[in-house]
Amino acid sequence: MLKLESVRVSYGAIEAVKGVDLHVGKGEVVTIIGANGAGKSTLLKAICGLEPLSGGRVLLDGQDCSNLPAHKRVRLGLAMSPEGRGVFADQTVLENLWLGAYMRRADRSGVEADIEREFARFPRLRERQHQLAGTLSGGEQQMLAISRALMSEPSILLLDEPSLGLAPLVIRDIFTAIRQLRSSGLTIVLVEQMAKQALGVADRAYVLEIGRVTMEGSGLELLNDDKVRAAYLGTH
Ligand code: ATP
Repeated sequence: MLKLESVRVSYGAIEAVKGVDLHVGKGEVVTIIGANGAGKSTLLKAICGLEPLSGGRVLLDGQDCSNLPAHKRVRLGLAMSPEGRGVFADQTVLENLWLGAYMRRADRSGVEADIEREFARFPRLRERQHQLAGTLSGGEQQMLAISRALMSEPSILLLDEPSLGLAPLVIRDIFTAIRQLRSSGLTIVLVEQMAKQALGVADRAYVLEIGRVTMEGSGLELLNDDKVRAAYLGTH
């Protein structure tokens, strides 16, 4: 469904992604783990068209979309929940959800039904629907970022560090939502530093080190791998 071939991304003289091959099948949850600065966020931005490639290709359903702008990739079914959440701070929760559904705003009843679905997923959003997004807690903003991405009816959801800076109970809720999305058959690419939880929900996973894939395997294989445990799980 999604395929990366020798993808490279540079910031000036710094090459942040150095030739990454990766594939994601329909309905799979694929996790990318790696240390700070390994290039995980850059890779997600390259997938959704927010950073240009300096080499390689991004294929969606076999179609080369390497040169398509981000909004056209949304039309092809890609949606991203960015690191740092990226909600529109001076818009209400409800307005943020409508903005997520921008491309299908003519389908009013469909959008309203999906907002209801997101309120059922994250009841806190229903309670705070008229509140400005910038006044939400970090956890609530993360829920909103995920729900907003889902409002475009994506076939692939890209999640960049959804647990970043959140309290353990909120992280649990976020991972519960990821599990539910997985059961519903959604294809997900998850970038995380919370390696244990992220590998626990993954069908397959990649380890990224300084811009390169150094390991790949099933979530379980990497969870049980000595090197991964020592480097990312704090256990031997
Ligand atoms: P983190 O978990 O800290 O977000 P990451 O694995 O997502 O790390 P990236 O944010 O993709 O890593 O960064 C990869 C490399 O690219 C780092 O060396 C970083 O300093 C550099 N980098 C990222 N964004 C930019 C930018 N806009 N301009 C220049 N260099 C950048």
